[in-house]
Amino acid sequence: MKILIVDDTKLSRAMIIKRIPDNVKNSSKIFLGTNGREAVELYKEIKPDITFLDLTMPEMDGFKALEIIRAYDPDAQVYVVTADIQAKARERIIALGAKGIEKKPIDESRIVQILATIQ
Ligand SMILES: [Mg+2]
Repeated sequence: MKILIVDDTKLSRAMIIKRIPDNVKNSSKIFLGTNGREAVELYKEIKPDITFLDLTMPEMDGFKALEIIRAYDPDAQVYVVTADIQAKARERIIALGAKGIEKKPIDESRIVQILATIQ
């Protein structure tokens, strides 16, 4: 499985990586990006099976990256991972086609659930 993790904070990226079970990690390739522009570039380059995407990032935010990725690939499996989400932003993210919105810090059992939908 190819997993793309995009967040401008190193700690947030590390927290997601840490919570991916070892058996999945061992059979997967994990790719990391630090802003929305990189999310789009990496998505097109690697075609990940699943993407974990932060919202608030420099250069290009997660809303815009999600919009571009979903236009490029209508089957893109993108989960937005964010600290705090207002109802309006939630509606916008779902309208843009995210598969889910997860609150930081995402816990391991939730990651396992999400990854199980891909395998
Ligand atoms: Mg951020």
